[in-house]
Amino acid sequence: MSGKGKTDLIVNGKRLDGRKPEELRPVKIQAGVLKRADGSCYLEWGENKVLAAVFGPRECLPKHEQDPYRARLLYRYNMAPFSVEDRKRPGPDRRSQEISKVSREALERVVFLENFPKASIDVFVEVLQADAGTRCAGLTAASVALADAGIPMRDIVVACAAGKVDNEIVLDVNKIEDNDGQADLPIAILPRTGEVLLMQLDGILAPEEYKRALQLAVEGCMKVNELQRNALREKYEKLADAGEQKE
Ligand code: UDP
Repeated sequence: MSGKGKTDLIVNGKRLDGRKPEELRPVKIQAGVLKRADGSCYLEWGENKVLAAVFGPRECLPKHEQDPYRARLLYRYNMAPFSVEDRKRPGPDRRSQEISKVSREALERVVFLENFPKASIDVFVEVLQADAGTRCAGLTAASVALADAGIPMRDIVVACAAGKVDNEIVLDVNKIEDNDGQADLPIAILPRTGEVLLMQLDGILAPEEYKRALQLAVEGCMKVNELQRNALREKYEKLADAGEQKE
């Protein structure tokens, strides 16, 4: 977000990638894609490509991090060096630590951690290709992977951003819009209750603009949540079919 706010990003009501202001990028979600993880998910969101893998509940190591009353939730967001235009230095940096922290805090409020004292539930999110919106894509994929692992949760967390581009409030900001737009508002919610678990704002929004952006982002979340549910349903239908064929 440069804050410059370029003015040629929406022409005749269409954004540079052809979307209308309230349109999402195409989203594809597949559950159960990794053999060695307890739960997993591959998600494409426009040009973003992310993989999420969940392990656990398993023994919490090192032992001094064990909590006698609840499981520890570990969330590691990692961007592959080749995922961005200017090669990213491998390993954690301040940005990935921040994203891991806010994503973990969102999930801690939904997973029934108290069911698994002394254990650890580990979530790994690998960004293979990035085009803005990767924290939302990662959290959305992580939540499907947690459900795929059979981890008990209050609901599936879903995330989506809205923003301000060319003086208009738009849904699901892409990289060019993120660079040259005026604001980006990623949120994560619980679809059943509408409870907000994560909200960050990069840029400036007037109160009315904020309300509209929040409304658009929630609508985006609800659409992506349908796709999360479909992905999980598909995975279990396949399993059920395979089971029937064996019998
Ligand atoms: N980005 C990049 N190099 C980096 C970090 C980010 O090119 O080291 C790009 C990447 O496309 C990312 C976008 O900038 O998706 C926006 O990053 P931001 O920190 O806003 O997080 P995101 O929108 O991905 O959640």
